Amino acid sequence: MPLDYLFKILVLGQSKVGKTSFVQRYVRGVFNEGYKVTIGGQEDTLPLTRAFFKNAHACIIMFDLTNAQSLQYCTLLKQAVDSENTSDDCLTIPCVLVGNKCDLPNHSVSVKDMDDFTSTMNCITWKNTSVKENKNIEETVWCIVEAIMERQ
Ligand code: GDP
Repeated sequence: MPLDYLFKILVLGQSKVGKTSFVQRYVRGVFNEGYKVTIGGQEDTLPLTRAFFKNAHACIIMFDLTNAQSLQYCTLLKQAVDSENTSDDCLTIPCVLVGNKCDLPNHSVSVKDMDDFTSTMNCITWKNTSVKENKNIEETVWCIVEAIMERQ
């Protein structure tokens, strides 16, 4: 099949925030309540997985809106992504911060927290999603693709 474009988009975040579900939802249009933990996806494997961050075009950094600690972990991930993807002109790759599980009550991360992370960590924007209820998934991917295309 001839390809017009081929992009490498990282989907990163702490274990259980919904990365596997996000990709399944976007690619296959399905949601399963009880996914198994992705092998190699646990947070303590960060040093091992850094090599996979190289040569990426863009990045989705995901946290769980009901778990403030999962947002803190995004700081480490963003730094790791940036350090593996420095271009000659020192631009970082486009990164969208994604707060998933917005269908759940009792969010422990505020809009201000997401605004602060986005500006401090140099993300292009933040989005809230519910993979479960299929909210904002397509929009998030479009946002990333647009940002990539602007840099081609
Ligand atoms: P990963 O470890 O980041 O790949 O996370 P998974 O995709 O395996 O999801 C972890 C758990 O969260 C699973 O039980 C999913 O069904 C659940 N989950 C994922 N996205 C959502 C969401 O938007 N809302 C709710 N309520 N649960 C979700």
